[in-house]
Amino acid sequence: MKPRRVFRSLLISFLILSCFSFAIPIGAQRTTQPAQSRARSTRDEALWQKALAIHRRAIVIDTHNDVTTPMTNDDYDLGGTPPTPYRTSIARMKQGGETAEFFSLYIKPWYVAHGGAARRTLDMIDSVYRAVERHPNDLMFATTSSDIRRAKAQNKIACLMGIEGGHAIENSLPALREFYRLGVRYMTLTWNNTNDWADAARGERKHNGLSDFGKEVVREMNRLGMLVDVSHVSDKTMSDALDVSKAPIIASHSSARALSNVPRNIPDDLLRRIAKNGGVVQINFYSLFVDQKTVAPQSDERGQKLKAQQESLSVKYADDPERLAEESDKLEAQYPLPPLPLSRLIDHIDHIVKVAGIDHVGLGPDFDGANDFPEGARDVSMFPNITYELLKRGYSEQDIDKILGGNFLRVFAQAELVARKMSRSISGGGSTRRINK
Ligand SMILES: [Zn+2]
Repeated sequence: MKPRRVFRSLLISFLILSCFSFAIPIGAQRTTQPAQSRARSTRDEALWQKALAIHRRAIVIDTHNDVTTPMTNDDYDLGGTPPTPYRTSIARMKQGGETAEFFSLYIKPWYVAHGGAARRTLDMIDSVYRAVERHPNDLMFATTSSDIRRAKAQNKIACLMGIEGGHAIENSLPALREFYRLGVRYMTLTWNNTNDWADAARGERKHNGLSDFGKEVVREMNRLGMLVDVSHVSDKTMSDALDVSKAPIIASHSSARALSNVPRNIPDDLLRRIAKNGGVVQINFYSLFVDQKTVAPQSDERGQKLKAQQESLSVKYADDPERLAEESDKLEAQYPLPPLPLSRLIDHIDHIVKVAGIDHVGLGPDFDGANDFPEGARDVSMFPNITYELLKRGYSEQDIDKILGGNFLRVFAQAELVARKMSRSISGGGSTRRINK
């Protein structure tokens, strides 16, 4: 190419990049400059522009983000710069072309032993309301599938909520109903801890899956229109939830066990059953869940290195679980693991498509719930990179729409429909009983 033509083509590239600057991952610029430059130089520019166009038109839904924790603990304003080690802000959500964000109401098991799980849930709900009140031009409080479509039309980000850890309801169906009334639209039946009515993937086996009360919780969630989330639960709990649920279920942030053998991921037989149930698996981006074989030894090594420091934090903040988690996350973030290539993450989408079908996969990255993520998928600003990779692998625009948010939206609407039917036929059970421990 002659110099003048090179200059002209550079100028055109610059103008194109400026027009679509919303999608250039700022997190990547901040932390991984050299890798990004490499990525740009090898990027197929025409395909990238096509990806951006598809991405801008699509409904993009992130079903699991833990930024709610600093919003609650430190009154972190999403309009500002996230405090270390967090990564989510309104500016980045916009860069990522997000239509809807599910703010996770993650309730630490500490509150089971010390009391206050439901109160903590209320505090977290309040932080989401306050974020929307602070930024009415950018954010929109949302509770239905049509709200998400409305947010897209108004160029706002729909803010929804999901409870992480069924212990949040303190074994009370009335509390579950109150959380629904406040706007909570999914509940992860357990976190890593087995609770009084459901076994967790990483917890003790106490109930052989769901207890009778656990099944009642699932039925009541169906009746309300609250999505049943099976991330974190044991395989048997998942199987029971699939047996009991009248509505399609979700895994808000789980990946495929065949590619990364951790109990938190979903085995192929249950992926097939979720497909049969009409549900959706929203893949988790956390490096360990993407490629356990590569990441677990690195993660263990780091754990050993930081063991003494972590232990002294545990002593220092024994009565303050929120500060303890924040400080240990901060410590871990100082020693990031070598990032996995983005292709390893896309492999999970391919796998779920192969096993369960194109209608049963979506995105639930778990940002701000973990520190280590693959290159190019490290925060909410980077969603366009996923679209680009999917195009590269030959996914059609229609398929990409499904993965980015269409599948989840279908499941959400179906759960709303089931709720409308059930509300007519069932009284709703005035049960105020609590189960005995
Ligand atoms: Zn989680």
